Amino acid sequence: MLVTLKEILAKAEAGNFAVGAFNSPTLESARAAIETAEELQVPIILSHAEVHFEVTPLEVMGPILVELAKNASVPVVVHLDHGSSLETVKKAIDTGFSSVMIDASHMSYEDNVNTVIEVVDYAHSHNVSVEAELGMITSSGIGGEETAGGEELTEGDAEDYYTDPEVAKDFVQRTRIDALAASFGTVHGIYIKEPQLDIKRLKLISENTKIPIVMHGGSGLSEEEYLAVINSGVRKINYYSYAAKAGANAIKEYIEQNKDLFYHDFAVIAKDAIKKDVKRAMEIFSNKGQYAKK
Ligand SMILES: [Zn+2]
Repeated sequence: MLVTLKEILAKAEAGNFAVGAFNSPTLESARAAIETAEELQVPIILSHAEVHFEVTPLEVMGPILVELAKNASVPVVVHLDHGSSLETVKKAIDTGFSSVMIDASHMSYEDNVNTVIEVVDYAHSHNVSVEAELGMITSSGIGGEETAGGEELTEGDAEDYYTDPEVAKDFVQRTRIDALAASFGTVHGIYIKEPQLDIKRLKLISENTKIPIVMHGGSGLSEEEYLAVINSGVRKINYYSYAAKAGANAIKEYIEQNKDLFYHDFAVIAKDAIKKDVKRAMEIFSNKGQYAKK
């Protein structure tokens, strides 16, 4: 069933777990996430990032995601990831998305606040949830869903862009957003060096804002790191790069071992490999399966 981000994150808060947000630029990535969520009976978020519109346009992928969500046996949020403007947000909402992210984090603070307020007014009047970003989540430069304005930022700059817990309080009060994307050590894409998470900062952000925190760049972390951020207020974990890499690696192996190649076989192989990868993530985030706490 299609649900809003606000509804699902309230449940995550009450149960001290996190909901995985899986980028779905192709049918295989979307189906892999939905099928795994149904097998585990956990809620999920299907995200379509604006930078992935060139892979599959919003007009094509959007209705598919909404339909998959409506027919699912688990709660599913259909979410716009890193939307860059009110125009894109409106398009996503018209398509039936139940949640949007507006990323104005590259703007000045006041411009960020004003842009987010505009989006919140529109989205909330349509019963759609809003996530916004304060501070900037940088990129390792290898894969990942890129930010709307911070593509040029590299991992080396990361700390300069961490979210300020005091500013976060003001940001959330003024914008009335439903979830806050915070920067505290994760980066988009494949990790070149071990991530150093600033858990103390994360806890302060969570305490000051009293709303669910979103962790971007959330694939490629250890079980311990996931549990640490969940216990510190993270309720939505954006998970993509490592799942996409798992799909590609499986296809590469298949090509090396087989002669007669047909494209549809790649789709099946990729989906199966992505399922395996996201299963671990979903089990850890929701405290299920082999990762259930004893
Ligand atoms: Zn992101």
